[in-house]
Amino acid sequence: MCGIVAYVGDRTAYPILIKGLQRLEYRGYDSAGIALMNGKTNIYKCKGKVKDLEHLVKDQDISGSVGMGHTRWATHGEPSDRNAHPHQSMNGKFIVIHNGIIENYAHLKKELTNRGYSFNSDTDTEVLANLIENVYLEQKVSAELAVRLALTRVVGAYGLVISSPEEPGMLIAARKGSPLVIGVGDKEYFLASDATPIIEYTDQVIYLNDEEVAVISRQGLDLKNIYNDTKTPEIKTINLSIENIDKGEYEHYMLKEIHEQSNSITETFRGRIAMDESKIFLGGILDVMHKLIDAKRIVIVACGTSWHAALVGEYLFEEYARIPVEVEYASEFRYRNPIVDKDDLVIAISQSGETADTLAAVRLVKDSGATILGICNVAGSSLSRETHAGVYTHAGIEIGVASTKAFTSQITVLTMMAFLLGNKRQVLPAADYKALIHELIQVPDKIAEILKEEKNIEKIASIYKDVTNALYLGRGILFPVALEGALKLKEISYIHAEGYPAAEMKHGPIALIDESLPVVVLAVQDRSYEKMVSNIQEVKARKGKVIAIVSKGDKVVKKMADQVIEIPNCHEALSPLLSVIPLQILSYHIAVMRGCNVDQPRNLAKSVTVE
Ligand code: GLU
Repeated sequence: MCGIVAYVGDRTAYPILIKGLQRLEYRGYDSAGIALMNGKTNIYKCKGKVKDLEHLVKDQDISGSVGMGHTRWATHGEPSDRNAHPHQSMNGKFIVIHNGIIENYAHLKKELTNRGYSFNSDTDTEVLANLIENVYLEQKVSAELAVRLALTRVVGAYGLVISSPEEPGMLIAARKGSPLVIGVGDKEYFLASDATPIIEYTDQVIYLNDEEVAVISRQGLDLKNIYNDTKTPEIKTINLSIENIDKGEYEHYMLKEIHEQSNSITETFRGRIAMDESKIFLGGILDVMHKLIDAKRIVIVACGTSWHAALVGEYLFEEYARIPVEVEYASEFRYRNPIVDKDDLVIAISQSGETADTLAAVRLVKDSGATILGICNVAGSSLSRETHAGVYTHAGIEIGVASTKAFTSQITVLTMMAFLLGNKRQVLPAADYKALIHELIQVPDKIAEILKEEKNIEKIASIYKDVTNALYLGRGILFPVALEGALKLKEISYIHAEGYPAAEMKHGPIALIDESLPVVVLAVQDRSYEKMVSNIQEVKARKGKVIAIVSKGDKVVKKMADQVIEIPNCHEALSPLLSVIPLQILSYHIAVMRGCNVDQPRNLAKSVTVE
């Protein structure tokens, strides 16, 4: 993961780097560091967050119009000052920041140790810095060539910015697997893991491709791949504004993003639904529509919250498009020998479009003949470039590490795809198709109504904030929502929580129930309602505490549950979109009351660009 930012131009680099690191901090916050080049090189780095780094550099020399910054999510070596980036090679010829993993680092380290190299950190990154230096000194080549030659020996993933004090005024950027964007200004360049540190200076960007190396100075940019083939940089205009990355009136990004959901869902279907509500258009998959219509099977690959969205997709595609679906953890799928062929449709879901395991799963099936679609939030991301077609979620930038609006937008896309395919495959009658579309466009208003319940949910949070365990139960299309509710609670409040299909409770988890265990049940009016009522009875009979999400006007569950949260009535297909909202709010308030850092929960990072 890690966030990378760098600058070369006429401005003072330091404020650009610090602001950039703050924006990228969601990617990792184990340590932070910068290198500033100004005739000499000053490196400052420390364990902790960007604010600790700011404190460290107080009264130090922070001049320089060339520089790089890094915020780390540790993979090799504990979070500490000495493992913080930038890393310098042993003889000081190269300074490196890195996002990714050098998988063959142990082998390279041994080789370098035999050649007399010693190491100051436990990181794989320092090994790379020394490898480059070793090539540079032994082969007496330019810094740029030393980088390219060294990278041909690397197995693994990298987003890199490298500088050499011997060739000042120049930065070398390279990528494989981990993302890297170059912002192009007037005689100045910006580099970053995503576009957020760049957008206030320029909207002109270049997305580096795998194995490309860019040499950047005030004079210009040269692009090659590591094998010395010259490449032509493709400059794109991005459409992202600073307001999108501000917390505004909210205390945390997560809360802001929870509250944005009626808008973000509207953005997801903006321009994709006919005015008369009779049709859905998904421009990004138009070219492959015939393949989708004939698909014999859908395989959805994803990780984390996106995997939960995929499970909702499974219900929707099977119910409305009548296509069999398998949902796979990308990390497991990629290491099996999965059977995928030309009649399959593979859908990969990732908020960032950079999730390492999901991209690897896509690459694995590339030659199978299957049609591969991507669903992601970040335009221009690797996923969008490596799939045949796809649909952007358009949820707007999501900064809170625990995903909220990206999840509901992913589900919105899957819902639209399922309805559209049902219609195209003639298994969803036109009248039902239209009625479902009509229901879908009501969702944003219904979410706005749920958000008004926040005070009530906050009160419930105060009752349960000190628990150590929680169980979430759902059935059918709400089972994945139970999983997601449990995940939200554990990731930001560190309370152990499990999501379960309600009927499975009696096969094990029921043993956990006593008067101290809160059980969150999704008991809205749908085909499983009566069964859920029985499950609630079973919990109550064992003195468990029940917090129930119910449909407005519910009378039965209300009498049984300890607390209820009402949500507006809606079509069963759309209930995941509504019922997850109170679960997000509940987790948020519990975490805040426990004093947790909800936007940057411990050990986590947002876009998981490492395995
Ligand atoms: N492997 C490097 C380290 O541990 C970079 C980590 C990352 O990109 O997540 O420092």
